[in-house]
Amino acid sequence: MSWWKNLQTFWHRLTGSACAEVGKFPDPNKTADLPELPGSLVMQTGASRLRVGVHSVVGNYREHNEDNYYVPGLGTLTSPAPAAQGQSWLAKSTDNGQRELESDSTGNGPEGLFLVADGMGGQLAGEQASRIAVELIPRELRPRLGAEDDDRAIQAAVRQSVAAANREIIAQSHVMPEYSNMGTTIVLALFRRGRVYVAGIGDSRVYRLRDGQLEKLTRDHDLATALIDAGTIRADEAEHHRFRNVLYLYLGSPDAREGPEDIRVLDVHPGDKFLLASDGLTGVVKDQTIAEFLKRYDDPQESARALVAHALACDSRDNVTCVVIHAE
Ligand code: CA
Repeated sequence: MSWWKNLQTFWHRLTGSACAEVGKFPDPNKTADLPELPGSLVMQTGASRLRVGVHSVVGNYREHNEDNYYVPGLGTLTSPAPAAQGQSWLAKSTDNGQRELESDSTGNGPEGLFLVADGMGGQLAGEQASRIAVELIPRELRPRLGAEDDDRAIQAAVRQSVAAANREIIAQSHVMPEYSNMGTTIVLALFRRGRVYVAGIGDSRVYRLRDGQLEKLTRDHDLATALIDAGTIRADEAEHHRFRNVLYLYLGSPDAREGPEDIRVLDVHPGDKFLLASDGLTGVVKDQTIAEFLKRYDDPQESARALVAHALACDSRDNVTCVVIHAE
């Protein structure tokens, strides 16, 4: 970390102002480890037209980015989809600078699928686990989905695809010592025919903003949350609880062998905004503030960047990843 970042961090902690005041951001480009995107992505998935922004950073404290994501047409942090390597089917630039995707130009995964994964384990293990999740789940899911699938069939396909990634992570951690005990969280949103299927394992989250109201659509699988549910501790005690970051369910554990238990099915309304985020964001930015950011920005790419920048201003000590999706 440079002396300048140290000074900024010290100042932010001293004043607290950068975190307290929504909208006073450091320059997000200074901490970006992604190439600059020209703007949000636009894609048509069945009944829903979606605009998408994504931003992921190492942050100010970590050596590596153990977060990863999958966005159709962009691929992942480490393995861009064919589109990003210059194949012709992607990205017509539109008049307003946005990139438009053909509906069938979604690389290895099904259209309308979005993932965020937050890896854990020593050295490079966390990166490897999250990479397996964001590369394998889209590839496993695509052939399992049919045009006439009902909700139950789609839920089963999602469950099987996540379970396949779980098996692969466990297998690699057994074979390669450097990957032993690796794991990852996963959250996903699959948009199909006017609906969205939402699931998660671990403590990454999916939110929906509708009519100004923010709703958390996933459940955190950490021990502190489990203690709240059991009535052992109060919700306000959980925030700084020592079990807060201890996960009892994650990909890479035998307990996740069946894939996600709950897969929510929700109708998508025009104007709905969705956020997929790692705990580098949600660990330091409160839900109320997340809602304010999602409301404020009309462009999902700006929204994603601003949320990430705000998490860093709030002294997030983690990697930070945000995927923002606007339904039109
Ligand atoms: Ca994290």
